[in-house]
Amino acid sequence: MDYQHLIEEVYQEVRSKDPRGKVANYIPELESVDGEKFGIALVDLEGNVFGAGDYQEPFSIQSISKVHTLTMVAHVFHEKLWSKVNVEPSGNPFNSIAQLEFEKGIPRNPFINAGALVITDALTSKFENPIEKITRFINDVSGKECVKINQDVMDSELDHSERNTALAYFLKAYKNFDNKVEDVINTYVSHCSIELCCVDLARSISFLANDGYSIYAKREIVTESVARRINALMLTCGFYDESGEFAFRVGLPGKSGVGGGVAAVMPHKFSIAVWSPELNEKGNSVKSILALELLTDKLKFSLF
Ligand code: GLU
Repeated sequence: MDYQHLIEEVYQEVRSKDPRGKVANYIPELESVDGEKFGIALVDLEGNVFGAGDYQEPFSIQSISKVHTLTMVAHVFHEKLWSKVNVEPSGNPFNSIAQLEFEKGIPRNPFINAGALVITDALTSKFENPIEKITRFINDVSGKECVKINQDVMDSELDHSERNTALAYFLKAYKNFDNKVEDVINTYVSHCSIELCCVDLARSISFLANDGYSIYAKREIVTESVARRINALMLTCGFYDESGEFAFRVGLPGKSGVGGGVAAVMPHKFSIAVWSPELNEKGNSVKSILALELLTDKLKFSLF
């Protein structure tokens, strides 16, 4: 398969269709990013890299970091984790407070903000310096010192973290949160402010395309069964309340972030990351999703 040719074709087609959206502005610093940026990187399981456009430029991975934190926790807490957070698609906005009350403090899944806060709380209980561990984990699975936390994005999000703070207090009221709210919010905002380029992001989730084994760290990161579960969660819950649409159009396990990134895996073949900052009204990158749709159409395979 000539992945380089394929990616260039997809890149050109998306550029010529040029669907538009809006750069996220609820974290003001994210709005300073050039909406025209667009990059794609595909990494196969031998470590070959194929890229097009701005694929070497770091961007804010935001919620895609929830895949990394979930992996760290799933590995450590095993089945215990699933009593603290559910595994159902939410069908509601990612920062819904009403849903958390309705669900009596057990978040619908680990990728909505309430669920991710439970995960970050678990990491805070486990590690003295959780953000250092998260950084080390991502560097390890990518085989590279690639993680950089963007301080401006972090400060900007901290200044606007009322909803996440409210979710954390709600979780605490339901006894599903053990640490100081401020500490967990700090760690959560730090991991959301991590910047990676498409290549490093694709490398960092490559183990999920490879039954849990990282070709970069040269070890099993999670068992095959945990990898399968994380992929199932990405497929059903990775795109906010548009997860069904992504499965319908693309058919790969993936996760998006409000920085405009999407990371996805084709099990036993490759991992891929696409970045374009302009988002649709559900918070997903317009060009990134179209690129992945064209890619699976041209490949003539997805999970289905
Ligand atoms: N840090 C963002 C928030 O909590 C992440 C949102 C996202 O990428 O889904 O609002």
